[in-house]
Amino acid sequence: MHFYCSDCKKVYPVSGLAYQCECGGLFKLYKAKEEAIPKTVSLGEVVTPVVKRKLENIEVNLKLDYMNPTGSFKDRGALVTINMLKELGITEVVEDSSGNAGAAFAGYCAAAGITCNIYLPENTSAGKIKQISAYKANIVKIPGTRDDVAAATLKAAAKTYYASHVYNPLFFEGTKSLAYEIYEQVGIPDYIVVPAGNGTMLLGVYIGFKELGKLPRIIAVQSENCAPVYSKFKNQPNKEITPTVAEGIAVGKPRRIDEMIAAVKDSNGDVITVDDERVIQAQQMLGNMGIYVEATAGVAVAGMLHYFQGQSDNKITIVVPLTGTGLKK
Ligand SMILES: [Zn+2]
Repeated sequence: MHFYCSDCKKVYPVSGLAYQCECGGLFKLYKAKEEAIPKTVSLGEVVTPVVKRKLENIEVNLKLDYMNPTGSFKDRGALVTINMLKELGITEVVEDSSGNAGAAFAGYCAAAGITCNIYLPENTSAGKIKQISAYKANIVKIPGTRDDVAAATLKAAAKTYYASHVYNPLFFEGTKSLAYEIYEQVGIPDYIVVPAGNGTMLLGVYIGFKELGKLPRIIAVQSENCAPVYSKFKNQPNKEITPTVAEGIAVGKPRRIDEMIAAVKDSNGDVITVDDERVIQAQQMLGNMGIYVEATAGVAVAGMLHYFQGQSDNKITIVVPLTGTGLKK
């Protein structure tokens, strides 16, 4: 098993401190078929349920992925990354997410006995870091902008393993399990609708379904307020980025944007946007059905309703994974 550069193909060890190629290219994972990721660290993962619901007359399979141990699908990535790092003897990691990825890494590091340092902007709300603190991660608050946080994180990553949910391909090796579970539960769907920020879910399902031999059409949904993938996919100039309720996908410069667009194109899919009002409506619609999710999960549902508006073809299978619980904050 090793990492290799997606541009120049140079090979790097999984256990090394390099988080990207010296040429600037991003890593991909090479893993021989017989190589298995160990599973000594567990927080009691389950196969998350799929429930069929009719939303505005459209039949949809909701994959309740917020039922993972720390409350989001990011646990899939943290599970695989941390198990592999534990096996490799890594004792300390750094990560920079105040959201679900940070909580997932903090939780799995706690279970693994790995020291976890989470770099955050100084102004991160107390509510957001409550769960990460509960898992006893070291929280390092960085004054200044998001770029300052990124710079501080990369500086720390020169000495400490960077367990990044964006750079580290082990994370995508984890999120791909979503595709395998969906395959066992409903087969290969015709469509899968996912929220898209950094692409952790999008690329995970792409890799998984690709391995399974058939791709559903991937519909990636962005917030209208922060839609760099949409703009690039549609060959439009970038729009100004403004705050959105869909915090989990508010990513202005997704590092893997080209991979994300290639995945959507390969699946014959599409990238669409939704506004905050629709996101909140979708979140409320789910709540009214007893399904309590974060706003970012509402993005995919709002996108699905928009994309399939007026259609009620029961022969097509649509899957919408619900990313994270509403119980955080
Ligand atoms: Zn390279």
